[in-house]
Formats: sequence, structure tokens, C-alpha cells
Amino acid sequence: MHTRPIWAEISRPRLISNFKKLQAVAAPHAGLLAVVKADAYGHGVTICAPWLAEAGAEWLGVTSVEEGVAVRRRCPQARILVMCGLWPGEEDAVLEYKLVPTIWTVQHIALLTRAAERRKLSPQSVPMHLEIDTGMSRQGVGLDELLAILDRIRATPALYLDGVFTHFSSPEILDSPQNDAQQQHFAEALGRIATARFHPTWIHAGNSSTLLARDRLAPLSALARQYNAKFLVRPGLALYGYALPFVQIDGVQTREMPVALEPVLRWKTRIAALRAIEAGTAVGYGATFVATQTMRLALLPVGYADGLNRRLSNCGSVLVRGHRAAIVGRVSMDLTIVDVSQIPDVAVGDEVALIGEQSASQFGEQAGANGTMLRVTAEDQARWAGTICYEILCAISVRVPRVGVE
Ligand SMILES: *Cc1c(COP(=O)(O)O)cnc(C)c1O
Repeated sequence: MHTRPIWAEISRPRLISNFKKLQAVAAPHAGLLAVVKADAYGHGVTICAPWLAEAGAEWLGVTSVEEGVAVRRRCPQARILVMCGLWPGEEDAVLEYKLVPTIWTVQHIALLTRAAERRKLSPQSVPMHLEIDTGMSRQGVGLDELLAILDRIRATPALYLDGVFTHFSSPEILDSPQNDAQQQHFAEALGRIATARFHPTWIHAGNSSTLLARDRLAPLSALARQYNAKFLVRPGLALYGYALPFVQIDGVQTREMPVALEPVLRWKTRIAALRAIEAGTAVGYGATFVATQTMRLALLPVGYADGLNRRLSNCGSVLVRGHRAAIVGRVSMDLTIVDVSQIPDVAVGDEVALIGEQSASQFGEQAGANGTMLRVTAEDQARWAGTICYEILCAISVRVPRVGVE
């Protein structure tokens, strides 16, 4: 039961519209693996995955087997890639729920083989995607160990190589030499895989930035075509309406986005209480804010336990009745205080946008100077908190119910 007034609205039209725009950018080079990992970047995977599958995502990418099972229950037909490896104890669920695991170690192969043997599965019945580490030193098999892994796969008849992929470290840095180097290593790996006579159906690489930058789509898809495979790009963040700015290696911002994306999530609450304070009155823990004049404060029932970053203390703002209201004092665990001194007619129960948009005219104020739409985005919160919008979105806690809206 959720009765505290704090919730996140997940807009289906915006998610679908972002997806269609990205699909158009990808065509004719690539299909889309829609990344819904980390609970769809905090948007709620059980809400977003069915919408994306219905809209035509060729694959869905999840963090874990647990998340994959939750998606399978709502998307019976979808191809689901578990992107972060495989742990002992998860292999039976992988087979039972027809999830496709990312593998790159002999342990992964051993786990799947045992599960396939227990089920007496016929040869070539368990698909896997092999991740190649082309220069991130994170997940994936390096070129030096690639042949050993391929030998293992060949020695386990139940399994087959359905896909091969890699991940770029710096796709938003357009002139980073890292990108070329990784693409070259990937080409080399694909050549060796073909020489070893494996024929994956899917080859995928790149994230939102790779897709929106576009330069690599043609060469990567040509590479896939050379091996008769279908090419996919894997956008995550852009589906939800955000994108990292494109920069040059010297930090200078360069390219515009090819499409306008719309934030899918609106994070809302309501005013719990109001009070007036005199000059000299302290606000919140540590008394880090002291009023220099008479002020009117609104109390919000949201804190860092809901995922509102504590670094927004004395620095972030929210929207109240179509105006900006600054956060004053420290964000506490369950509560935050904002300054509504300059905002007319504020009342207990008024809807507040933590992330979202509001205009004063919406609240009955005369149009004109106040008719403009104001926005707070996850990017704004990230800038205030000194982090990236990915973290802001993923940090919205389980205490905040996600509600799908039209
Ligand atoms: C998270 C992730 C993506 C999506 O990245 P975005 O920057 O959100 O588009 C793609 N591929 C892999 C392997 C990932 O881990």
C-alpha cells in the first residue's frame, strides 16, 4: 500500500515516441536492443519492457536473471538478454524462462552445460551471447583468450553462439581514439570467430551515444553483414529521454542531437505543511541555512531515502505552482524543505514536481510572464549533485511507486 504522496509517473507516449525516433535513426543499419536494466533505469521494468516489446524492440536487455524472469512473465515472446553474466544457482532459471545469458568465462559455460544436461536438452538448444572485451577491462573475454573460450563452446554440444557483442567506453567523446581502437579489436575478434566456424545470428555494439552520434552505424553494420549476422545497437538512457552531450576529447561540446527526446519520468509529491519563519531562524540539520528575512517554507515528504540526492541540500530546486522553489537546509532522510516565499497561493496538498514540468497558468495564475513552462530534469539534479543523470534516475528508491500514464 502506497499512501504517502510521492510517486513517479512513467509516460507511455513519451517512451514510445523516443523509441520510434531512435528506431528511425538506427534504420537502415541496425535494429534495437532496448536496454531495460536496473529496473528500466529506475522507470520500472515491468511497466516499460512490455511497452518496448510491443513497439518493436527486437531484444530487451536486463541486468540479472531475476530481472529477466520478471520481464519474461510480462513479455512471453521477447528475446531477453541478461547483460551482467551468470551466477551459480541461476542457470536453471535461464533455461526455464528462456533467457539468453551473456557469457565470457569457462565457469559460465560450465554452469549452463550442467543445467542443460540435467534437463537432457538436445544439441544446439541453449543460446548464448559472447561478450568481447575490446578495451574497457570490464566484462568480456579478451582477444588473447577468445580461442580458448570458443573451444569450450564447441566442446559443449547443448550450447550455441547466438550472438557476439562488445561495449564502447567513450562513445560520447566523438574524436576519442579509444572508439576506433575498440572497433578494430571487435573486427579482429569477429574475424577469428568466423575462422573458427561459428556463425552468430546477432552482432551488437554501442549504446545511446553510439546511436545518436551515427558515425559508427554504417561501418559496424557492414561488419555484421560481412558475417551474415543482423546488427543491433543497444540504447538505454535515450529511451528514457536523456542523452549525454557530445564532446570532443578536449571537452568542447560539439554536435547537436539528431532527434529531440522527451523525459519519460515525472517525479512528484505534495506539500505536507507550511510555516512562516523570522530572520535569524535556522532550517534543518546542522542549521546550514539561516533565514536573513521573513520566509515562507513548504515541507515536502521526500528525502534521500526516496532517492532525492543529499547533495541537493541548499542547492537544488523543485517546481511549486509553476514557480521554482529552492531547497533550503539539508535534505533529510524522509523530508525536504523548500522556499515558497515568492510563490502566491501555496497550499498544503499542492502538487510539487521534483522532476517534471509545470507552468503557473496551469495553477490558475494569470498568463503572460508566468505562462512559460518550467522544467526540472534528471540532468539538472545531476548537475546540482555532481553526478550523471543515469545515477539520479536509478537512485529513485523502491519506496516511490511507479505509475504508468498515457
Ligand atoms: C547500459 C548498457 C547499454 C546502454 O547504455 P546507455 O548509455 O544507457 O545507452 C548498452 N550496452 C551495455 C553493455 C550496457 O551495459
